[in-house]
Amino acid sequence: MKSIRGTTSGETLTARDRRHVWHPYSSIGSELPLFEVQSARGVRLTLTDGRELIDGMSSWWSAIHGYNVPALNAAAEAQIARMSHVMFGGLTHEPAVRLAERLVEITPAPLETVFLADSGSVAVEVALKMALQFAAASGHPSRQRVLALRGGYHGDTFGAMSVCDPVTGMHTLFAGTLAPQIFAPRPNCRFDAVWDPTDTLALEQLLATHADTLAAVILEPIVQGAGGMWFYHPDYLREVRRLCDHHGLLLIADEIATGFGRTGRLFACEHAGLAPDILCVGKALTGGFMTLAATLATREVAETIASAPPGVFMHGPTFMGNPLACAVANASLELLLESPWQQRIAALERGLCEGLALCRELPPVADVRVLGAIGVVEMREPVDMRVLPGAFVERGVWVRPFGRLVYVMPPFVMEAPDVAHLTSAIVDVLQHTARR
Ligand SMILES: *Cc1c(COP(=O)(O)O)cnc(C)c1O
Repeated sequence: MKSIRGTTSGETLTARDRRHVWHPYSSIGSELPLFEVQSARGVRLTLTDGRELIDGMSSWWSAIHGYNVPALNAAAEAQIARMSHVMFGGLTHEPAVRLAERLVEITPAPLETVFLADSGSVAVEVALKMALQFAAASGHPSRQRVLALRGGYHGDTFGAMSVCDPVTGMHTLFAGTLAPQIFAPRPNCRFDAVWDPTDTLALEQLLATHADTLAAVILEPIVQGAGGMWFYHPDYLREVRRLCDHHGLLLIADEIATGFGRTGRLFACEHAGLAPDILCVGKALTGGFMTLAATLATREVAETIASAPPGVFMHGPTFMGNPLACAVANASLELLLESPWQQRIAALERGLCEGLALCRELPPVADVRVLGAIGVVEMREPVDMRVLPGAFVERGVWVRPFGRLVYVMPPFVMEAPDVAHLTSAIVDVLQHTARR
């Protein structure tokens, strides 16, 4: 038995954490600030020292209803009393079936089948695998690659990483292991600009050259998230759909960040009025309560995969269809769809636009953009992560920048005064502490 040293002797939680615990994109022994959360309710996080923070992150796009939501807690408690988990091989249950039906109902029409995965990255792995099995079953076994966009982010597992931006996705580090994919330039034309038809020229040429080795195109519709928080034109998406049809490729839409209302539409594909062949959702699926994701596919994709050896789709996580997560997802979707979410997103969009407008005047700021309940301040230089998180905490808000991006995506239930507090804290911090 290893002895666990110093777990009680008045040592802070942070000190104990630093000895043993990995955090996202962190190093053990890192000196970067860490804040101890005691509880969370509504749009506020309470630290163990009693300070309250207005949450600008929705715990990475997920906590759309805020925290400690009675309806979600009740759904979880009711499901725990029945069963929190049971294997999904050869067994089924009401929470999973109801969730699948609901997802089919609210997503674009031809998506009719649902694979329940345990995280966003796994949902992307499943989507890629479906595309490859579909190509093989359609008599195109040489179509094993995928075209992705620069500036994209699709997750941290190896398949997902292979379609992330090659630079921010650290492709050189894992060069020998990552599947070599094809990359088109980042869409350039802004969401609200006049459409520039030359924006898809490079993509068009790449597809003309490589289509016979490609199974699919994968992208984040309208909003590229962790790869750069960039909003691009709906006509770009329409053109990709047209080109995929022309070359016989599947279109995979990764709506793990954008799904469930964040951009002002229930799904970002709706901005372009189109449907993908495969759709990934995650993050806000359980309202941030716990991990769950899903990959939806058309009946054509499902039937084609079933029509050729091995005759089944080759994936099946241990915790697939976890009843507890499905029950909470059902409650979260009900809560969302019965709420005036469109008005809430529109109000958040106005609040973020007004509140962040002042950032445009600041010399270190390169760009300010807002779409739906997403507000982005792009800086000229990377921000100082030793200083900024603490500066936000001092002003009573939780904002976690990365690289040159200071961004917020508040819970949909945030009220106007809290949005104003959040945005004025950002203006204040960037004014006083942005420089390294
Ligand atoms: C977060 C995210 C993922 C990965 O989801 P995880 O649950 O973190 O594995 C994939 N794609 C997009 C667009 C995301 O925002």
